[in-house]
Amino acid sequence: MSTEAEGTSTGPESARTGSGGTRTRLSVARTLDRCTVLGPGSRAVIWVQGCPLRCPGCVAAETLPFEGGTSRTVHELAEWLCGLDAIEGVTFSGG
Ligand code: SF4
Repeated sequence: MSTEAEGTSTGPESARTGSGGTRTRLSVARTLDRCTVLGPGSRAVIWVQGCPLRCPGCVAAETLPFEGGTSRTVHELAEWLCGLDAIEGVTFSGG
């Protein structure tokens, strides 16, 4: 049994399955397969949706609201990352 309906996540959270496993989910604003300007080397990027902070000059203002985004499991994101060629790292950015 899951405690979370699919696609309704509004932030990082976990849902326990009936078998006792944990499925951690992220609300994802967008992803990018390859980037060379948001960290060292060639990287994938995951922008999460929702941030309670209001830093002056935030460059990701569209990701601040907790509404929106796509609920993705860590497993789904790991599978996507493992399928990418020649990336050296992953950058997580805000919300
Ligand atoms: S997304 Fe990043 S820069 Fe923008 S308010 Fe949140 S922590 Fe600050």
